[in-house]
Amino acid sequence: MSQKRIVTTHSPEETQQFAKRLATLLQAGDVITLEGDLGAGKTTFSKGLAKGLGVTRTVNSPTFTIVKEYEGRLPLYHLDVYRLEDSEEDIGFDEYLHGDGVTIVEWAQFIEAFLPDERLNIDIRYEDNTKRCMEIHPKGEHFERICEELKI
Ligand code: ADP
Ligand code: MG
Repeated sequence: MSQKRIVTTHSPEETQQFAKRLATLLQAGDVITLEGDLGAGKTTFSKGLAKGLGVTRTVNSPTFTIVKEYEGRLPLYHLDVYRLEDSEEDIGFDEYLHGDGVTIVEWAQFIEAFLPDERLNIDIRYEDNTKRCMEIHPKGEHFERICEELKI
């Protein structure tokens, strides 16, 4: 049984720093799923992850498109599936989720049915203005190992 880990951050920079550290351990095909309300810090986390993958372009929430692709040490696919809530639409997620890069999905709970069993799920909770609690659920041995390497 996998055990959840808790990481608390006290600034957006700290959240990005953690995501950056995670990024250095990722491989092609890895999927990170983010849950949490609006303003929780999902995009902030994604920006940090991108930096850790060596992406130099600015990462913003994909507002009009569901997915944006960035070039880094590995390709990064940044998905924000907020607009797919309550739709059964399959926009060809498989291409990203089992692809040659790292995939990070904001509002992942909306596409639960399309997500791979092996993934790192992170639930970000607002605590106060600058404090966030990240509940980290490694699904599968690969992500368990990554959590151990991160010492979380
Ligand atoms: P989401 O993508 O979940 O809607 P964003 O990352 O766009 O959230 O917004 C999070 C907001 O909260 C940003 O304005 C960010 O600066 C702020 N913030 C404050 N403290 C933190 C923290 N510890 N971690 C992440 N974001 C934080
Ligand atoms: Mg966002």
